[in-house]
Amino acid sequence: MDDLPLRDELRGKSPYGAPHPDVPVQLNVNESPYPLPEPLVDRIAQRVREAARGLNRYPDRDAVELRTALAAYLTRTGHHPLTAANVWAANGSNEVLQQLLQAFGGPGRTAIGFEPSYSMHSLIARGTSTGWISGPRHEDFTIDLDAAVDAIAAHRPHVVFVTTPNNPTGSAVDAETVVALYEAAQRARPSLFVVDEAYTEFSHRPSLLPLLEGRPNLVVSRTMSKAFGAAGLRLGYLAADPAVVDAVQLVRLPYHLSAVTQATALAALEHTDTLLGYVEQLKTERDRLVEELRALGFEVTDSDANFVQFGLFEDPQAAWQHILDRGVIVRNNGVPGRLRVTAGTPAENDAFLDAVRDLKKEQG
Ligand code: PMP
Repeated sequence: MDDLPLRDELRGKSPYGAPHPDVPVQLNVNESPYPLPEPLVDRIAQRVREAARGLNRYPDRDAVELRTALAAYLTRTGHHPLTAANVWAANGSNEVLQQLLQAFGGPGRTAIGFEPSYSMHSLIARGTSTGWISGPRHEDFTIDLDAAVDAIAAHRPHVVFVTTPNNPTGSAVDAETVVALYEAAQRARPSLFVVDEAYTEFSHRPSLLPLLEGRPNLVVSRTMSKAFGAAGLRLGYLAADPAVVDAVQLVRLPYHLSAVTQATALAALEHTDTLLGYVEQLKTERDRLVEELRALGFEVTDSDANFVQFGLFEDPQAAWQHILDRGVIVRNNGVPGRLRVTAGTPAENDAFLDAVRDLKKEQG
């Protein structure tokens, strides 16, 4: 690759990705452990079959039926009325975020995120030639509001990312903090404020969708990869003022969302209640992981997501390997002293807890 006439900012860089060894218990990338239920699989097959008949044509470029169904889901669960005009969808929320940075970031502009957080925010910034500013957190991983407001005032970013619940740490950010950051950002300059709610359905706190009211530069980003248990579908979406939706259409590729994707997502939305039932089970398991890890003497960050950050390890990579050697893969996100485990089925979580119990014994 070094010999290629590659852009300077990509030279010597590695692509995003976690190791994916084939082990029995996969608790490393925040997927749902539950396969889609059979009636939904049948409904997807039926909807995709219907869509297949029309594959000689381009799909609905504006995905209106899907955006209408997503708006109905958000209105029902988010306690904030939305229509298709407020919603945009793309291939995973990663693509949504990329479109936002293509439209609102770019050369000569900057984005800020409060790290550790979802590392794709900075990578998408790099890919769109948006300057990246790493904002501060407290040692307990909560956002240091005073320092964050100072950083926003000093750097005057064009785009602000707040991830709640945060990945990889797990905790949700309270609404007052988000409002204070939004106001600080708008004081510095008119800027786009992205609330990444990929994990919000797992949270102890309600979604921040009601904050959209009266805040035209706020965007809430969501995904069907986590709560809908459909990471393989690649469907992410956003809710915002209709003007933001108009703006991302300036950069989206025409027909970016295939007819097969739209049909599959619509089928999944018809089964929302069943899928949210799995979320409830996973929340119970997540709370059990937090409790049992604490009982074992680990330091555990409060979690509102479908994963739990735990430590402390002198050598997190060695601990990761120890757990892997017992057939369970978790994630080392590079947060000093910590690892992250995704909540799996009760049996998977038991296997994980056995592995870390073992580790604890060895560490003495
Ligand atoms: N935001 C956050 C905070 C995430 O953790 C992830 C996935 N790990 C995403 C967005 C992207 O998810 P997807 O592209 O699957 O919607």
